[in-house]
Amino acid sequence: MKADTVIKNCTIARHDGTVHAGIAVKDGKIAAVCADEMLPDASRVIDAKGGYVIPGCIDPHVHVDWPEWDFTEGTVSTTKAAAAGGVTTIINHLSGPGSLVDIFEERKAAIERSSIVDAAFHIGIFSLAQVGQIEEVAALGVSSFKFFLPYRGTEVVPPLVGIDDGIVYAGFETIARLTRPARALVHAENVEIFFMLKERVLATGRGDEAGWDEVRPEVCEIDGIRRVITFCEHTGCPAYIVHISTGEGAEAVRDAKARGVDIVGETCPQYLTLSEEDVDRTLGKVNPPIRRNREHSKRLWELLASGGLDCIGSDHAPCAKKHKKEFWDAYVGVAGIQTLLPVMLSEGVNRGRIPLTKLVEITSYNTARTFGLYPKKGAIEVGGDADLVLLDMEKTQTVRSERLHHISDFSLFEGKKLTGWPVLTMVRGNVVMEEGEVTKEAGGGRFVPRPAR
Ligand SMILES: [Zn+2]
Repeated sequence: MKADTVIKNCTIARHDGTVHAGIAVKDGKIAAVCADEMLPDASRVIDAKGGYVIPGCIDPHVHVDWPEWDFTEGTVSTTKAAAAGGVTTIINHLSGPGSLVDIFEERKAAIERSSIVDAAFHIGIFSLAQVGQIEEVAALGVSSFKFFLPYRGTEVVPPLVGIDDGIVYAGFETIARLTRPARALVHAENVEIFFMLKERVLATGRGDEAGWDEVRPEVCEIDGIRRVITFCEHTGCPAYIVHISTGEGAEAVRDAKARGVDIVGETCPQYLTLSEEDVDRTLGKVNPPIRRNREHSKRLWELLASGGLDCIGSDHAPCAKKHKKEFWDAYVGVAGIQTLLPVMLSEGVNRGRIPLTKLVEITSYNTARTFGLYPKKGAIEVGGDADLVLLDMEKTQTVRSERLHHISDFSLFEGKKLTGWPVLTMVRGNVVMEEGEVTKEAGGGRFVPRPAR
């Protein structure tokens, strides 16, 4: 056999350990993992010089077009940022009024024209009519359905309609009954407490000093997560809680798992590493809020390390400064896909909070298993896709927004010096980033359907 590419002299980090070996890639797949001497001839030989190679990160929490970008433009810039940041698969949110099948077909075509990395989808459910379309969409290879609990009342985003708990419960019942594996994703926050607190703060006349964490406090998330767990227990629906920002919320997920509930918990780099005091209050406005109390970050790291939490997502929502001029009216959301891996390497692995094997587990292996992408994705195993990232654990670089490829013009990590960066990214055997330079302008990525079993 002649391989397309071999990577020699690498330390392969998997979720269950590290091994010094070489990797051969042929036709986009991993053809061999073996001692360097046993590697076949290849058109290209990459010398990892002893460095770590990990499975490409899977970012399960991406909104390429939020808040108002063209989908194709958002896909190109987001997936350039993904390639630069060592992310080889995105799971992007789709939502819209009307037929979910039509939205799916249109977006799938756009992904296959423009995405640089591979992509799967979550679909947002906002009405009973859309609950009725879940089975049809699941048959197309989409097996995760998102319920945005706080998008009701004055928080509705037109043309979508507001959700309510009856729709959520009916959605859970439907997903639980599907014959193929599927999962409910939930943004879990009680928004009515926020409506009341916002009015209370504005009535005092101190709107200019209020913080987002003050008006959307921890209790909103903790109540939302506990309610979702109750729905899971009563319907048997498997769930995934996105962007957990509080220690208590994460503990509720951990405890539910211990009782046998099929539930998975995600947190994001911003909740692990930032306090509200570290960010501009308007640019840093996200839901749930970045917490003021740093104890939450500490607790989230501990729960990741101990298996209480399972996955890392960026919640990439590439708002620009123009979308965030005034505090109360500012769109929520920040870009984060390109900094996900460097922040986790620098603040997690290099600071001794998690080992590299755990990083692999929470950035690819668990994510692939949760969303039906394993063993095609999420592992370095013969027969799997050659989605690989070579790391330089000693490289130190300061985050500058002009180096970030996404469409947003700021980063919450601007000016932060990080140690540990991806230096080469490969998607199905194709090098898409080398030495920090993205080598593709657009295209090459594929839609990845979730298998029936
Ligand atoms: Zn999100």
